[in-house]
Amino acid sequence: MKINVLSADVYNKIAAGEVVDRPYSVVKELVENAIDAGATEIAIETEGGGKQLIRITDNGGGIGKDDLPRAFLPHATSKLKNAVDLEHIVTLGFRGEAIASIASVSRMKILSKTENGKAYSLTSDGGEMGEVTEDAGANGTVVTVSDLFFNTPARRKFLKNDAQEDGDIAAMVARFILSRPEIAFTYYVDGRVKYRSFGDGLKAALAAVYGAGILENTLEISAEKHGLTLKGYIGNQNFSKPNRSYASLFVNGRYVVNQTVATAIANAYGAYLMKRQYPFYVLFLDVPSEILDVNVHPNKADVRFADNRMIYGCVYSVVSAVLDGSARALEYTVTESAAPVQTAIPLPKSVEVKPQSQAPKMTYVEARQELEFDLSPAKESGFKPRAIVSEGRNVFEVNAPKEQKEEKDFFAENKKYLESLEKGREKIDVSTLSYKGELFHTYLIYEKGDDAYFIDQHAAHERLIYDRLRAAVEKRNVVSQPMLCPYILSTNAQEYAFLLQSLKLLGELGFDIEEFGGASFKVSAVPADLKNINLDGFFQEVLSSMETLRAIRLSDILKDKLASAACKAAVKGGETLTESEVRALMAQMDGDVGLKCPHGRPVAVKMTKREIEKLFKRIV
Ligand code: ADP
Ligand code: MG
Repeated sequence: MKINVLSADVYNKIAAGEVVDRPYSVVKELVENAIDAGATEIAIETEGGGKQLIRITDNGGGIGKDDLPRAFLPHATSKLKNAVDLEHIVTLGFRGEAIASIASVSRMKILSKTENGKAYSLTSDGGEMGEVTEDAGANGTVVTVSDLFFNTPARRKFLKNDAQEDGDIAAMVARFILSRPEIAFTYYVDGRVKYRSFGDGLKAALAAVYGAGILENTLEISAEKHGLTLKGYIGNQNFSKPNRSYASLFVNGRYVVNQTVATAIANAYGAYLMKRQYPFYVLFLDVPSEILDVNVHPNKADVRFADNRMIYGCVYSVVSAVLDGSARALEYTVTESAAPVQTAIPLPKSVEVKPQSQAPKMTYVEARQELEFDLSPAKESGFKPRAIVSEGRNVFEVNAPKEQKEEKDFFAENKKYLESLEKGREKIDVSTLSYKGELFHTYLIYEKGDDAYFIDQHAAHERLIYDRLRAAVEKRNVVSQPMLCPYILSTNAQEYAFLLQSLKLLGELGFDIEEFGGASFKVSAVPADLKNINLDGFFQEVLSSMETLRAIRLSDILKDKLASAACKAAVKGGETLTESEVRALMAQMDGDVGLKCPHGRPVAVKMTKREIEKLFKRIV
């Protein structure tokens, strides 16, 4: 191997930028180097959220004595010689800047041994290089990075707490395990094994990251079409996740977040996913390198396709065929016209769109369900079966073109509502109201003088529970109700980090929740007012805020999620209340007809006699 220093003109063709800003990006660069070096075994160790220590050990080709100092030079790479090579990038790294930039902001040591050479090591202290010295070690390379950003306090300040950094590193490592099922990875966090894979295939890799249970809930995909292949696993029709952190796409072996593919998948799931649910998938899309531009951004998290529309059509048709066809067919032919690509997908203006007639037929082989469907009640509680829509549905009418439509933001609505509360609210004296009956098992009718009141018993009850709960939270005297059977919540690394920060708050809200090992939590008591709470639903909601509401104060989020949980625990419209229950409800409402339920729907509506008489044209 020979490390070349890129000439300026080649380098200028590569967009410059920061490679390293967080511990996980260091891990990413170093593991990519190990993979590029042909390693079959890679160990990743971190301490203190990666800020104290990151060590990557591989059994790859190693770096020779003379090349060792070159590895530290900016724009020095053994993977690219000239601009022509840029067109055919097959390695993960190619910029030759990772080692140099990491070395400049840490204390780094590279110990390496090639098969035929001796082991040598070289250290760097914030970019100050030492001497190459003979050392001892096995074939391969050990890169140790300590005290990350010790000399750039400003950047150090932007780091998150250890659990969050660990969460992001773990997500990164999980992707490597999934994307390189042939490599054996071991990942240690503060001395404890977090993930271990054995390099024995994708199914095992999936189990290593998500637990063996994942295989029951996923469908295998293996499709190909003129040089394009789509392989991997997708969650079945009844399996969804509360946020996007369970979606992994690898294009030509590289983890990417790509809007075209993500949208195609989201739209294929269209009817199967409820609002604020996201698909689970681990998919590998392989395309000819000529139609792919990986050189979009220095952190290489996105790629550009020469023909977005074709990619969209392929992914959409394969994923929806597997989902819609219950994935039973062993041989299945999907024509391009089956995918309604001609509709609302916004394509970049510059992309050339092929005429429909040229669109090739696609054979999609061996899409079959690995294990039979599991619709047992235990599963159903978390992942409700959704209506299966007929073939002729128009997905694009249901979905916003870019993203799946988000459900209304309760948080924003509540805020608006609370602000509006202060502005002149009408109060009525309950004792002066006379109860006139109920309508549709939902609305209670009251009369007072020339006014009629319709009260939505469901909204009223929600409101009551919500107010009681909020008051109890403020006063910190929430009553907890122990559960007969504790609830276990399993999370991924990012969710784990997010919830870990919320434990104290959840405790204040009346939940008895504690860590339960292996990124899971045990809930053994809930707020007494919410004793019928659907915990699956509640935690789905909380976790769905992970990405969108990070900036907002956590306590507000949780109170808000409690509000919607309150709504679900409240009397459902359609259930009849006894007269004494109605009276109790009204008494608790204290006649406050200006109130709205936590969703912002009105609790009570007033109609005057005049308005009613107008309806009957008694007056004009
Ligand atoms: P790039 O990966 O873009 O080439 P880096 O700065 O990450 O740039 O690495 C510089 C060079 O150091 C690589 O091209 C490679 O030759 C060598 N190198 C780095 N890490 C390893 C490793 N783990 N095993 C073998 N060679 C390595
Ligand atoms: Mg590299």
